[in-house]
Amino acid sequence: MHFALTDEQRMIVDTTRAFVETELYPHEALVERHGHLPMELIRELQAKAMAAGLYAANMPEDVGGAGLDTLSWLLYERELGRANYALHWTCVARPSNILLAGNEAQRQKYLYPCLRGETWDCLAMTEPGAGSDLRGMQASARQDGSDWILNGTKHFISHADIAGFTIAFMATGEEDTPRGKKKKITAFFVDKGTPGFNVRNGYRNVSHRGYSNAILEFDDCRIPAENILGEVHKGFEVANDWLGATRLQVAATCLGRANRAMGHALSYAAERRQFGQQIGKFQGISFKLADMAMELKAAELLTWEAGWKFDQGSVTDADMAMAKLKATEVLAMVADEAIQIHGGMGLMDELPLERIWRDARVERIWEGTSEIQRHIISRELLRPLGA
Ligand SMILES: Cc1cc2nc3c(=O)[nH]c(=O)nc-3n(C[C@H](O)[C@H](O)[C@H](O)COP(=O)(O)OP(=O)(O)OC[C@H]3O[C@@H](n4cnc5c(N)ncnc54)[C@H](O)[C@@H]3O)c2cc1C
Repeated sequence: MHFALTDEQRMIVDTTRAFVETELYPHEALVERHGHLPMELIRELQAKAMAAGLYAANMPEDVGGAGLDTLSWLLYERELGRANYALHWTCVARPSNILLAGNEAQRQKYLYPCLRGETWDCLAMTEPGAGSDLRGMQASARQDGSDWILNGTKHFISHADIAGFTIAFMATGEEDTPRGKKKKITAFFVDKGTPGFNVRNGYRNVSHRGYSNAILEFDDCRIPAENILGEVHKGFEVANDWLGATRLQVAATCLGRANRAMGHALSYAAERRQFGQQIGKFQGISFKLADMAMELKAAELLTWEAGWKFDQGSVTDADMAMAKLKATEVLAMVADEAIQIHGGMGLMDELPLERIWRDARVERIWEGTSEIQRHIISRELLRPLGA
């Protein structure tokens, strides 16, 4: 086993951290206050991220990305994750890996413009009636000649307001399985502006101000067959093949924010004096710091190990579920304790802690809730025993 970072990984961490602190932190207060990211600011920061070689760094070299191995990419994600989500997500974008599943014509139309920063993608799976149980989706597509007609509603779709297109997962049939009927799903590219495709503002959200979600409506929306991503009825297979590491990305960005909160907690414990001494000298505070550091380390080790195994081809769903579950729960704990250590000041928006605490909440819900992660882990434990 080898736990040290390579020189290249250290450079990735340093470059990304410097970019985040110099270019993103100064705009956080504005985004928090207005809940909106002006397009001029997006374009300005996007250009800087491109110049620094950080834009779309998740992509392989042969399509113009940085070609990072999974562990190095997760280290980069951890550093980006320190900043306001809307800022790092939109301005240092990472197009979804699922775009790599497209054929060359689809790559020309969708992937490369994302890499050039001309547009953004968004993924539409969740519906008002189908969240964790995606196979229960009602939105559907039916074939009409060589075209497909899409109908239904998706909600909670992240950054669909600025995306130029969506990849919509639609039910295209049903099959009988030993556990009853199961929907067959197909993935479609749908361009903004296509008749019958409407994007409405979503909900106001306690977490990640400035990072919008939208409601997507499909009303007899006609799509040519060339817009199918992967094969008909194989939408989940495409998603499973290409979105594998998304849960690790969530884990890594959570680690970034947890590290930032930890840094504030440590400094404050060393500086703040009450009853004639630094509060860090009270065991009530120092033991909190010890637990925070230990939990953070455990979450990092789970995440880095899963990232390493991903590239070895030996990662399991449970490995990634454990990393996501632990990192999101540790972020919640560290953010909460960091506020406690700061007393009243922890709740004031002079510090990023109240924001990190609010932002932590969504992480246990999106990309599979904590209950679903526990389900994945326990299933992997019990299945070999026939339970
Ligand atoms: C801000 C935000 C952005 C999002 N962005 C996107 C996006 O870009 N694209 C997209 O497609 N989706 C997106 N989502 C959707 C997200 O993935 C879902 O919210 C999530 O999968 C949970 O679905 P749900 O909210 O419908 O909750 P439900 O599935 O209704 O769950 C409700 C509760 O029941 C529990 N539960 C459900 N099933 C089980 C079970 N089998 N065992 C135990 N407990 C269970 C859940 O854990 C949860 O506690 C986003 C969500 C949010 C909040």
